[in-house]
Amino acid sequence: MALEPLVGLEVHVQLDTDSKMFCACSTQFGADPNSNVCPTCLGLPGSLPVPNRTAIEYVIRTAAALNCTVAERCRFARKNYFYPDLPKNFQISQYDEPLSYDGHIDLDVDGEQVRIRIRRAHLEEDTGKNIHLPSGSSLVEYNRCGIPLMEVVTEPDFTTAEQCREYLTQLRLILRAIGVSTANMEEGAMRAEPTVNLRDPETGEATPKVEIKNLNSIRAVFEAVQYEIERQRRAVAEGRENELFQQTRRWDESNGVTALMRRKETSDDYMYFPEPDLVPLEPEREWVESIYASCPELPAARCARFCEQYELPEYDARVLTESRELADYFEEACEVFAGPAKTVSNWVMGDLTSLLNEAGIEISASPVTCEGLAELLTLIEEDVISGKIAKDVLTKMFETGRRAREIIEEEGLEQISDTGELEAIIEQVIADNPGPADDFRAGKEKAIGFLIGQVMKATKGQANPGMVNEIMREKLG
Ligand code: ZN
Ligand code: MN
Repeated sequence: MALEPLVGLEVHVQLDTDSKMFCACSTQFGADPNSNVCPTCLGLPGSLPVPNRTAIEYVIRTAAALNCTVAERCRFARKNYFYPDLPKNFQISQYDEPLSYDGHIDLDVDGEQVRIRIRRAHLEEDTGKNIHLPSGSSLVEYNRCGIPLMEVVTEPDFTTAEQCREYLTQLRLILRAIGVSTANMEEGAMRAEPTVNLRDPETGEATPKVEIKNLNSIRAVFEAVQYEIERQRRAVAEGRENELFQQTRRWDESNGVTALMRRKETSDDYMYFPEPDLVPLEPEREWVESIYASCPELPAARCARFCEQYELPEYDARVLTESRELADYFEEACEVFAGPAKTVSNWVMGDLTSLLNEAGIEISASPVTCEGLAELLTLIEEDVISGKIAKDVLTKMFETGRRAREIIEEEGLEQISDTGELEAIIEQVIADNPGPADDFRAGKEKAIGFLIGQVMKATKGQANPGMVNEIMREKLG
């Protein structure tokens, strides 16, 4: 009987608040070392914590997006352990009374619907950072200490590494869409720790849980989970069950293996107890309901709607809904533009995105507004300019912030769609190039491409390509 994998994910998310969880210190990234600190986040005697209302709101927003229940009453707890990056020698976290619990997220993994249950989303504080120098001495940096951290824990419902990857992809999109975190894994704003073990589906008996620490990319989670499932299966198949004890392992990226760090501590080791310096939290129901009511359309739902409503290919819909701002821009442009939505999608994903990337500008600060883009696309649609000329016009719009029509009029870029004018140019091109003209008449279809190219060259790309093709064939036939 094949053993089935049970994988759970614990994700720590830095909340994007201006100040820390229990003090007024700034959360600004990249400030001078140990400059964003005060007696409270340094754990000095006599200092007292005050909870950050925005951080609580952000967890409730997440709870709404993940279909969780918000507790009527919850409490902070002390998680006790000694480590230099934790100056109080305890972390204020939540234990048996989390702020929110019992949610779920539905994933589409290779066409298969999978529901992952969310056990809890609670609030805690981040630790500082130890910096180990080559000389052997260590430094400690407390700017990160006390930054609000949300811990989102799933039930062990994943059975494949692919499902874990899709979950993290969707979670990251959701956190960004609801504006609670940058969710940048490279910057440590989102960190994932999978637990992996195996269960015999007949007896229900399971092997001890293995936790994998310090994963800082979705790819690392994917590879580590895949490796760990295989490692445990092999240990069972080869009768080495003694290797499968409860433990914490790390992911060795360069060798593509997990390695033993330590036997796992149990929650007893942390001696959790209710935080005596903070009163229990009872979020007002009206406030909670208003946060739930303002939960925006989530990326997966928006992606499905884009496929349906705008008849976009799945790929386009996915790219456009990766950021709320990009999706908003697309939708607003579609409202103004009467032509096909796919045209808008092509220009937004193609030329506009390249211009933004080159300039290092976010879509929200784009010098080309969605109305501006819609106007340009309408001019193509109405045959005022060709698609090729439009690319140059877009670049000029981007660089100067001017409108498409202005640029086109000023630079005389209108498409030549006058039959008489085009006939004269085409006759001249045929006369100048008797060889290719004869080739075409002799049945060489390709030769017409050269002749059309000459017309486009003579008109600096402004000739209406459809009309040129038609008139050219007429004249040669
Ligand atoms: Zn502080
Ligand atoms: Mn935690």
